Amino acid sequence: MRNCCTCKVELVKGDNWALSGEKAGVYKCKSCIKITSKLHRQNNLATNKEYWVNHYKENKSRYIANLERFMDGLYHVYMRKDGYVGATTNLNMRAIKHKTILCVLHSTESASKASELEEFLHDSGYKGKGKKTYAQQLGI
Ligand SMILES: [Zn+2]
Repeated sequence: MRNCCTCKVELVKGDNWALSGEKAGVYKCKSCIKITSKLHRQNNLATNKEYWVNHYKENKSRYIANLERFMDGLYHVYMRKDGYVGATTNLNMRAIKHKTILCVLHSTESASKASELEEFLHDSGYKGKGKKTYAQQLGI
C-alpha cells in the first residue's frame, strides 16, 4: 500500500493514481499532480508564451510550408457524414479540425464557384452555414 507523498491519501491504481505511476516511480495522487502542474503552468506562462512567439517567428517559413504542403491550389466543396457542407483550400487541415472523414463533392479553381455551390447546398437544407443574417434570425 502506498500513500500520496503530498496529501498522504491512499493511492489506488487506476482510480486516484495513474496506471503508469508505479512504473515511473511517481507516488502522487491525480489531484495533487493536477494542482502542481497547474501551478507550474501559471508560473511559467510568460516564459512559455515568449518562447513560442519567438519559435514561431524563427520558423515561420516552416510553418507556412507545412500548411501549404497539402494545398493543391483548388477550392474543394466537401460534405461530412452528418450532412455538414463546407468549402476549403486545405482539405487535410479541415479534416483534422472536423475530426472526421470528408467526402469531396466538387473541386474547382474558382473561389466564387465553390462558394456558390456551398451556398446552394446550404439553401437546399444542408448544415454548416456560418453566422446567420438578421433576416434569417427573424425567419423572413
Ligand atoms: Zn495527493
